[in-house]
Amino acid sequence: MQLTFEGRAYDLRPGESVLDAMARHGVGLPSACRVGSCQACMIRSVSGDPGPDARRGLKATWLASGYFLACLARPSCDLTVAEPGDDAHTAARLISARAMGPGVLRVLVRPDRCLDYQPGQHVTLSRPGGITRIYSIVSLPAQSARTGIELHVRVYPAGAMSGWLARARPGAPLSLGSPAGECFYLPGNSAGPLLLAGTGTGIAPLLAVARAALADQHPGQVVLIHGAAEPDGLYLGRQCPPELTASPGSAVSWRTCVLSDGEDIAAAAAAELAALACPPGSVRAYLCGGAGSVGRIRRALFMAGMSLADIYADRFVQAGAGR
Ligand SMILES: Cc1cc2nc3c(=O)[nH]c(=O)nc-3n(C[C@H](O)[C@H](O)[C@H](O)COP(=O)(O)OP(=O)(O)OC[C@H]3O[C@@H](n4cnc5c(N)ncnc54)[C@H](O)[C@@H]3O)c2cc1C
Repeated sequence: MQLTFEGRAYDLRPGESVLDAMARHGVGLPSACRVGSCQACMIRSVSGDPGPDARRGLKATWLASGYFLACLARPSCDLTVAEPGDDAHTAARLISARAMGPGVLRVLVRPDRCLDYQPGQHVTLSRPGGITRIYSIVSLPAQSARTGIELHVRVYPAGAMSGWLARARPGAPLSLGSPAGECFYLPGNSAGPLLLAGTGTGIAPLLAVARAALADQHPGQVVLIHGAAEPDGLYLGRQCPPELTASPGSAVSWRTCVLSDGEDIAAAAAAELAALACPPGSVRAYLCGGAGSVGRIRRALFMAGMSLADIYADRFVQAGAGR
């Protein structure tokens, strides 16, 4: 089979993904998770069918424009593809990147146009030099329009993106991809309790979910557990942030869990689920953070009686495989 890109034809092996084939031929596409959740590798089909899996989770508007995910595309016919158009990327500028705790930056980004997203979704952030990484959006859409899009970024000193952000000057040019992810709050979708558990900066999208639930006067309880390997990883502190307690009628129950103190976030999440004492199917769980912790919490909640269909999870799959 043949894959055509920018007028050049490349061979495509049976069963090989478009992303892998292009990489094999030295054509690097931005990519991060490689399992269809970050949507960093979204490109456009000009002719040919990239296969049904390649369109998983894409908005109807993207589908109508021929977009698909190169990491999931395993076509069974020749395919001609093109880079995404301007509509898939939004130019942006860095407003500020300031330390908010040991090793974590609060990053504010001003997009050139309004970004349409759900509270709890993530977005790809690209910087000059072709580096692209994924970050969860902490601010609600109305807050983003006023003060910029808020991200919480763990700094890896050698990190191609986080290390750069720590040194970048306000006004630096950036680009945002289209928001993605299933770990988001839908107003009115469920009246039951929400159990939110995140490790490290995995708390970022859960803050957005909690903020949205409070703004929506969510009738069910909202329990938020922040886990960290060491005490200084609790970069928001041990107490519930005041903004999550100030809403009349509803408040967030805040709990922290530090691994080095012998506390296990998976066991804590299962204990909170039991304490909610709700009938099966009424609680929704949102989990975010490193793949290992998210997997363990998910398993513990399943063993404690939750259906996997009620557990929404985003894993910080380690980047670095793509540009
Ligand atoms: C859906 C999703 C949402 C995400 N949301 C956020 C978010 O809100 N906040 C946030 O801080 N990050 C988030 N990430 C992770 C983020 O995309 C980057 O992987 C991370 O910032 C590192 O990128 P970098 O360019 O700074 O480091 P890289 O240049 O990619 O790596 C530098 C060094 O750090 C190490 N490293 C990189 N990532 C990790 C890791 N997760 N754990 C341990 N070591 C690591 C690498 O091994 C390497 O040695 C998310 C990831 C996904 C998939």
